[in-house]
Amino acid sequence: MTNDPTPVTPTAFPFSVAEGVAPREREPAPYQGVPGPGFVNWRVRFPMFDFLQVSELLTAEEREIGRAARKFLEAECLPHINRWWENAEFPTHLIRKFGEMGFLGPTIPTEYGGLGASAASYGLVAYELERIDSGLRSFCSVQSSLVMYPIYAFGSEEQKREYLPKLATGEYVGCFGLTESDGGSDPDGNMKTRARRDGDFYRLSGSKMWITNGNLAQIAVIWAKDDEGVVRGFIVPTDTPGFKANKIQHKISLRASVTSELVLEDVRVPASAMLPGVQGLKGPLSCLTQARYGIAWGALGALEAVYTEALEYAKSRTTFGSSIASRQLVQEKLVRMASDHTKGLLLAWRLAQLKDAGKLKPAQVSLGKRDNVRAALNGARAAREILGGSGITLEYHSIRHMLNLETVDTYEGTHDIHTLILGREFTGENALGESPKKEAVGSRG
Ligand SMILES: Cc1cc2nc3c(=O)[nH]c(=O)nc-3n(C[C@H](O)[C@H](O)[C@H](O)COP(=O)(O)OP(=O)(O)OC[C@H]3O[C@@H](n4cnc5c(N)ncnc54)[C@H](O)[C@@H]3O)c2cc1C
Repeated sequence: MTNDPTPVTPTAFPFSVAEGVAPREREPAPYQGVPGPGFVNWRVRFPMFDFLQVSELLTAEEREIGRAARKFLEAECLPHINRWWENAEFPTHLIRKFGEMGFLGPTIPTEYGGLGASAASYGLVAYELERIDSGLRSFCSVQSSLVMYPIYAFGSEEQKREYLPKLATGEYVGCFGLTESDGGSDPDGNMKTRARRDGDFYRLSGSKMWITNGNLAQIAVIWAKDDEGVVRGFIVPTDTPGFKANKIQHKISLRASVTSELVLEDVRVPASAMLPGVQGLKGPLSCLTQARYGIAWGALGALEAVYTEALEYAKSRTTFGSSIASRQLVQEKLVRMASDHTKGLLLAWRLAQLKDAGKLKPAQVSLGKRDNVRAALNGARAAREILGGSGITLEYHSIRHMLNLETVDTYEGTHDIHTLILGREFTGENALGESPKKEAVGSRG
């Protein structure tokens, strides 16, 4: 890796607002160098922002995975993402390519179709996906951490062999149904979905809300309470009679991602569809820990995108006789973004080390998810501000990232819920409150 001080020319924008026309596709400009100190030349159109040279702490394989992901995503996604977002469209034609690139279950062992890659590799994939759009990262996070992980960690050998290779190639898409409409922060206390034993079968009834990939999925990992009131996970083929996915419309965040309500009306699955290796809330919570780890990396990709856009804009925009980049108020915003990114990358890298060593604690992941996402959200708001009026349109990327990050700040545990998890960790006092006591539910209608 070399640092090349050649400045980057401001990007060609996808469409002109003044023309009043829909975004048109654009070819990525050829590689032009790095925008200045702190950027690492990965021989792609946009170099990575890495002020403290964290990439030197990565292995050659990890760097290569990150570089390849960036190159692919810049060619296949960056030119089109604003149109997909505006049209509320997820690029389904890329699902198989995501599989070929190893974006689906990168840490799953090769015998089940994964790459057997390190935690940092997974983090870098999340970073690069979210540098384009949080919706693309959400798709891959759900597939990898919320569907493949529970099947790998808690599934029977038959379940692993049946589903993991198909999920790794993208032949199958999965979704994860935990949240219900009564309140996602307390999934135990608010879980009404039931799995009633019926001989060699279970009958699932209930509904799930805000489920990413719901309308794209061939299988759903559904968390439901059994006859004893114990949370269990089930792999449910979405073509099972009684299963329905309703796409949620009118989102103004994460628009390039499919979000659904799932309705289960007496869905009959064999007992072998249950994940045998886990019971209780620790099943879904351990999946969320995996996904939140990826988000801690991913959010920094979005932060890099908005920082770079704001920096380039500030250098090229002149008011009162000089560039706005020369103004202290603008520099303060840029420095805050760069500083937050730098600290966040070190945090993410350390989480990766702990994860590979098997020492990562959920509360440590809470810190990474909470702080890196809020830093990215604040950065996106500041970038939008630096862009002035132009910042409110899809001519630029910052407002899209900003609106996406409102979801990322909320899902997988809200910012405040992670604050309370950390507060409990540090003080020993539980300010979250208690879920209602577990009760047997088998006799209920
Ligand atoms: C686009 C999108 C995609 C999603 N994808 C999935 C998915 O694939 N699978 C899935 O299962 N879920 C998914 N979710 C659900 C997500 O995880 C929940 O929205 C999230 O957990 C918050 O739950 P809630 O929306 O019900 O808010 P609530 O739990 O009702 O919380 C509302 C507010 O109250 C606050 N609050 C709650 N409890 C406390 C407390 N004890 N103390 C202080 N404040 C509190 C929260 O911080 C929040 O501000 C998705 C959500 C979105 C928006």
